[in-house]
Amino acid sequence: MTTLAIADGRVLRPDLTVTAADVLIDQDSGEIREIGPDLASEADDTLDAANSLVTPGFVNGHCHVAMTLLRGYADDKPLETWLREDIWPAEGELTAADIRAGAELGLLELIKSGVTAFADMYFQVPEVAAAVETAGLRARLGHGIVTIGKDGETAREDAATGLEIAREYDGAADGRISTAFMPHSLTTVGSEYLTEFVPKAREAGVPIHYHANETADEVAPIVDEHGVRPLEYAADRGLLEPEDFVAHGVHVDETEIELLAEVGTGVIHCPASNMKLASGMAPVERLREAGVTVGLGTDGAASNNDLSMLDEARDAAMLGKLAADDASAVPAEAVVEMMTRGSADAVGFESGRLEVGAPADLAVIDLEQPHLTPPHDLVSHLAYAAAAADVRHTVCDGRVLMRDREVLTLEAAAVRERALEAAEAVVERADA
Ligand SMILES: [Zn+2]
Repeated sequence: MTTLAIADGRVLRPDLTVTAADVLIDQDSGEIREIGPDLASEADDTLDAANSLVTPGFVNGHCHVAMTLLRGYADDKPLETWLREDIWPAEGELTAADIRAGAELGLLELIKSGVTAFADMYFQVPEVAAAVETAGLRARLGHGIVTIGKDGETAREDAATGLEIAREYDGAADGRISTAFMPHSLTTVGSEYLTEFVPKAREAGVPIHYHANETADEVAPIVDEHGVRPLEYAADRGLLEPEDFVAHGVHVDETEIELLAEVGTGVIHCPASNMKLASGMAPVERLREAGVTVGLGTDGAASNNDLSMLDEARDAAMLGKLAADDASAVPAEAVVEMMTRGSADAVGFESGRLEVGAPADLAVIDLEQPHLTPPHDLVSHLAYAAAAADVRHTVCDGRVLMRDREVLTLEAAAVRERALEAAEAVVERADA
């Protein structure tokens, strides 16, 4: 057995207490073997965590990681206009190599900000999977299916690709990659394709992930056409099972909240994207009260504009209070839970908690920073004051992905260079 010790840190436990302890990891199984005092001397390798907080690796529950290439390309527009005028035309220009370059840039950013697992919806998924395999993170990947505006044959092909990708890549990268069937949303995929392909996805044993109730404009057409709320429509078509998870859930009514709680479908809250696109305020406090599993996601870099889960946690707490008109709503403990085991449970990862037998997915946060002083309450610091640049080490599946702020699995300078070139060329083609 090869072992790694995270030495002399303060460890955030699943009950959100913090204890001074070492964490001993079995690198062969990728699991946490022991948490306690004086474990470092027997380890093969050690990461120093003195004056640092050892937290579960953050889980980004909803992302489009290759969209980093479009960061800052188009801002300050509502969702529909932004997608139609800027994002979709630019995405139409992305080649497989561009998506690889964008994914690697995104993964570099995720590792540097302490993220160890994420769910991603995009196209050219084999490129994203290859980047994940190299970078060493854990991921649930899927091909984002869109059928509106396409002829029958092309639309069907897109749905078939979504199913094929879900089947082929589930369990890839020694099990670090899992998949989901990912219709883009309930309004961008025709009902006949859901009827045909959802049962096949169930047979393949993969969950289903989609954008739901993101804007008011997306809710109205379903209510008008089908006479039911979007999540009732989803349930009727077999898209709402305990293993499934939806992104956003901004405009959900009480019936839908109860439905989510009853079934056990998770919701990934994306507060930065919702604020930036003025999509609305998700009723996070109400969702949690009702017993819905709530996770956190950054969404794509073009609507955020970074992939930092620490920023997202702070946004979630602030927006949750405004939405509930109550300063005690969505407290620090809630957002720390959401960014770790909330997302992990919703997406279907076993990570998100530091305990014996759990996956060794963790991040080490440098507390020797002016903005993290004094250390009255480290859960509060994680929710309100810590930043991506405070992350010292990132470990996933027992492997060190970043040591002393240096990413070991990707060559940072080369990744950045390739992304720069790809991004410039894409924008040139899109604007031509
Ligand atoms: Zn999204």
